[in-house]
Amino acid sequence: MRILILLSGLLFLMSCDSSTEASHDQSPAPSKSEYAIVIHGGAGTILKKNMTPEREAKYRAALDSALTVGEQILADGGAAIDAVEHTIHFLEDSPLFNAGKGAVFNHEGKNELDASIMQGSDQNAGAVGGLSTIKHPISAARAVMEQSEHVLLTGAGAEQFAQEQGLESVDPSYFYTEARWNSLQRVIAEEKGVELSESDDPNDKKHGTVGCVALDKAGNIVAGTSTGGMTNKRYNRFGDVPIIGAGTYADNATVGVSCTGHGEYFIRYAVAHDVHARMLYLEEPLETAADHVVNTTLVEKGGSGGLIAIDRYGNVSMPFNSAGMYRGYAKPGERYVGIYDDE
Ligand code: ASP
Repeated sequence: MRILILLSGLLFLMSCDSSTEASHDQSPAPSKSEYAIVIHGGAGTILKKNMTPEREAKYRAALDSALTVGEQILADGGAAIDAVEHTIHFLEDSPLFNAGKGAVFNHEGKNELDASIMQGSDQNAGAVGGLSTIKHPISAARAVMEQSEHVLLTGAGAEQFAQEQGLESVDPSYFYTEARWNSLQRVIAEEKGVELSESDDPNDKKHGTVGCVALDKAGNIVAGTSTGGMTNKRYNRFGDVPIIGAGTYADNATVGVSCTGHGEYFIRYAVAHDVHARMLYLEEPLETAADHVVNTTLVEKGGSGGLIAIDRYGNVSMPFNSAGMYRGYAKPGERYVGIYDDE
């Protein structure tokens, strides 16, 4: 009898031990936030002296509303992929930003739209380049990721695929805005050596893009980016946006990144992937990795721009080396919107 009691006592102690062990193994990572979302509306020569208070208020309100779209989805327990897609829809629909409606014009006076999306759970990714009739290029990128075996589709084929997926198409004139048209005329005039007075457009004449990274309650990180590219681009030029690893990258183990800036440099230095790689191989924290890539690697090479990123703990980073970057983030109990570098 005594032996039996001793044995069952031992078994009880062992079971306590192993359950402690198990709960230790399963303890959640030191998460700082349940969810997080960060956005950008492009980096460039965004100067306060060129901005009217009304215009600045419009940008701040648009960024704030975009955050609300995504945060609502995340707070309700929705998926990061939906938060990113819907937030970018909002930014694509706003004529203030160089993506969707409000995209810049190429040399021929047309809008050619690029977008990409990547999910951190399995590195599945989709991208489109050179669209001219799909209202929401980010949805075309998502369709490539989810409904095709490819990663990047371009031009007429990408349009056909998006239409077959039932995505909303519009007449190319939908993307026209007077401000972007005027920017093209200015850039072409400057190319011809015509001296012009300072533009009253607060945006850099060539830069812009929108992006969003989200971490959902299930720990999934998704990054997406959408752009009209650079004003006066020619020869079916693509920048970094549709290139996975350059303008967009996501890995649940490290980080999600969306970039904006002079795309050629972001392609050459695989900027979005480089942030991930520094975190993975050098074990750098997010802020160190993101700051190094933007303020050392890119600055040394002359590549202007910035990026937004979220790591698996919900830490947010938004470094840029240009005068300004439209940006913002939201997490439970926290919200920030900024434009210039001193805020
Ligand atoms: N990265 C974009 C491109 O090169 C433009 C931008 O973000 O400003 O197409």
